[in-house]
Amino acid sequence: VIANNQAQLKVVIIGAGYVGLTTSVCLAYLGHKITCVDRNHKIIDSLNAGEATIYEPGLQKLLRDVKRNLAFSTCLIDAFDDVDVVIIAVGTPSKINGDADLSAVEKVAEEIGDILNKDCQPVIVNKSTVLIGSARRVETIVKTRLERRGLKYNFFVASNPEFLREGAAIIDTLYPDRIVVGANDTHSINVLRQLYAPILEQTFTPPPGISRPMAYEVPAFITTNPTSAELIKYAANAFLAMKVSFINEFAGLSEKVGADIKDVARGIGFDKRIGTRYLEAGLGWGGSCFGKDTKAIMYMASQYSYSMDLLQAAIKVNYCQRFVVMEKLQMILKVIRGCTVGLLGLAFKPNTDDLRDAPSINIIEKLIELGARVKAYDPVALIRFQRQFPELDVECCNGVLELSRDCDALVLITDWLEFSSVDWEKVGGLMRQKIFIDGRNMFNKDDFEKNGFTYQGVGR
Ligand code: NAD
Repeated sequence: VIANNQAQLKVVIIGAGYVGLTTSVCLAYLGHKITCVDRNHKIIDSLNAGEATIYEPGLQKLLRDVKRNLAFSTCLIDAFDDVDVVIIAVGTPSKINGDADLSAVEKVAEEIGDILNKDCQPVIVNKSTVLIGSARRVETIVKTRLERRGLKYNFFVASNPEFLREGAAIIDTLYPDRIVVGANDTHSINVLRQLYAPILEQTFTPPPGISRPMAYEVPAFITTNPTSAELIKYAANAFLAMKVSFINEFAGLSEKVGADIKDVARGIGFDKRIGTRYLEAGLGWGGSCFGKDTKAIMYMASQYSYSMDLLQAAIKVNYCQRFVVMEKLQMILKVIRGCTVGLLGLAFKPNTDDLRDAPSINIIEKLIELGARVKAYDPVALIRFQRQFPELDVECCNGVLELSRDCDALVLITDWLEFSSVDWEKVGGLMRQKIFIDGRNMFNKDDFEKNGFTYQGVGR
């Protein structure tokens, strides 16, 4: 199935997380020769054994299919022979003060500077989400390390931010809306155009099990300077985060005045200037990106004595939104202590096992603090949850029926498709009280009320 790529490039991708692994697998599928490097031995051992270390639809199969073009290693130096492109895709988490922690990116830049040799002058590509000025910082670090070795070579640094969504990472990588390249030299732009040519020209057939999105044509190829590319990534995430907070703010008002936020969202979304996506009221955003990236841009703006008032409000609205379900539970149950609450879903959104900044965690902490017994079921995130949050006293269940037994209330946290085929009448029969809080507005009130449930959505 691998594409026959006449313009094959040799690529090293550093970081085998959601971005690095997905990019590795997709570029290997498009016919490039990829080595994906991660410092975590467990991850590399598992990938070498053909086992995906994250959950992404289609990833496990594609990983095995592209074996011929994809190697994994913990050792950067071994992968560096004749490499054309080095992509940095390591994590850039938040520091306590909100600033982005670029230490992993800087460490990788040092390692690259220690390895570069006269036969190898790759384009170094920053795909991690990084603060403005980071392409230059990477360049300075690499240059300094070379100078320490008494060397002076040509190398190139470009910024190429990533816009994939977890849960749709392969589709977003193969069928992006745009590819952004920030560089100060034409060589980098030409090499990256060659790297992405199969995507820019859509010359490949979709991998088995992956469908080309309807009406998809080709992505825009946006070239700019590194600073603008770095800001594009933050501006995109800030805008989407504001859109979610905007509809959630109107959801609160809708509840007060008796409007239905789903209809309001539909009514405004059909306006092409607004668009329907990211207008779903619920528990707000979570995940590895929106929270940390909005904080990072706020922090960065403050360093330039600039205040981002819209964004600050969006962050506040989002935080409060997580506790809307708690208010609803308290209103119905009156006393939470002693109640059993079942959570449907833990991941921050469907089709992923990612729990970073997931609303479920804040809600669990609050429920435990208020004295509730907490049960949870998630189709894929349970194992990761138990590993990452051993301190949280939650009974993990194997299915919706086991979850519902003896519950006083169920709270839908993640709108997994499999919840749409649950027999809620049967579920209601197992519960102590039939209370359903739909934190994602996945269902219709009438369907639940006819089964004897007290149902509450968000903003309806
Ligand atoms: P991740 O935490 O899933 O993966 C990062 C990987 O980098 C880890 O496996 C870690 O072991 C590895 N790593 C760290 N330091 C290393 C080093 N010195 N050498 C080798 N490997 C090292 O992160 P992610 O979600 O893939 O995100 C990566 C970057 O992409 C971040 O900057 C993020 O903001 C950005 N991004 C993420 C998404 C997303 O949806 N996850 C989308 C767009 C952009």
